[in-house]
Amino acid sequence: MASPPSKRRREWHGQVAPEDEDAITPSFWFKDGDIVLAIEDKSCKVHREKLTCSLIFSDMLDLPQPTDADNVDGCPSVTLYDLWRDWMVVLEWLYNREYVTIQLSPFLGKPVIFDSLSGALRISTKYEIPKLRDWAVSELLSRWPKELEELSTRGLPHAAEAINLARECDVPEILPAAFYALAIQKWHCYAEGGRSHVILGSVDLRRVISGREGLQDYLLQIVIDPLARSDNPPPPFCAACVPHLERYWRERLTPNATSPYACWLLRDLLAMAKEDGHNPLLQTICAPCSFLHYSLLYDRMRTLKQSVSRLFQL
Ligand SMILES: [Zn+2]
Repeated sequence: MASPPSKRRREWHGQVAPEDEDAITPSFWFKDGDIVLAIEDKSCKVHREKLTCSLIFSDMLDLPQPTDADNVDGCPSVTLYDLWRDWMVVLEWLYNREYVTIQLSPFLGKPVIFDSLSGALRISTKYEIPKLRDWAVSELLSRWPKELEELSTRGLPHAAEAINLARECDVPEILPAAFYALAIQKWHCYAEGGRSHVILGSVDLRRVISGREGLQDYLLQIVIDPLARSDNPPPPFCAACVPHLERYWRERLTPNATSPYACWLLRDLLAMAKEDGHNPLLQTICAPCSFLHYSLLYDRMRTLKQSVSRLFQL
């Protein structure tokens, strides 16, 4: 018997499956499939060979199948306790990998939807599908990079969900950037930060709050005394340059009420490092002081990057 049972067809996404038996339904009911996966209240009939890229399925399918196994449409049926939408992403990847990676590649202008990414990561972690997990982790890292100065606005949405996902699927390397991304958002703007208290656990929420306070303290110290170093004697700026440099640092880093971000200090410091003398205040600075100024700037960026994990108690 090669056709899906009519009952199954009716259940399919609430739609009737195509009558043309040669057609492959978009919902993965293949007439020549040899295993049925029952997930939530839906099912798909797929090929075992496709599932063997999962180490868990590969081991399971190697075992002799019990003769009294559930049988649907002439195939053994396996019930999976996952989300149907997560499996749809994975089946899409298994069957249309090239299409998926081309369509979803952020480098070709179509960013991956976070829900697809989290579905792919959950299933690939649980069923040990190394290639898919590697892809999902690299996608996560492109949003929440290890090098925190590379964090862009792409990392702002879903930062709280990413923290939960990192905990669930063991991807701790994205945590510093995800926490930092949450801490730089203004909660009253209905951005991600404004919802994180309902998404995050209480311990992680406390980490966001304490990290945010730590970042604000760090900024405050700079604005109060722009040319001081907390760990060393102040750099020997000349008396003529000090007022200009102090004004420059304060102008660049004083919080702006109209900014959509609370305190994105790493991005501000990076912008200052790239400014390279275009600011009129910097053009009056003597060469030795300019050197000291950029040393201080890079030193602060390095210190801040190194402090983030500690500030968020990671
Ligand atoms: Zn000077």
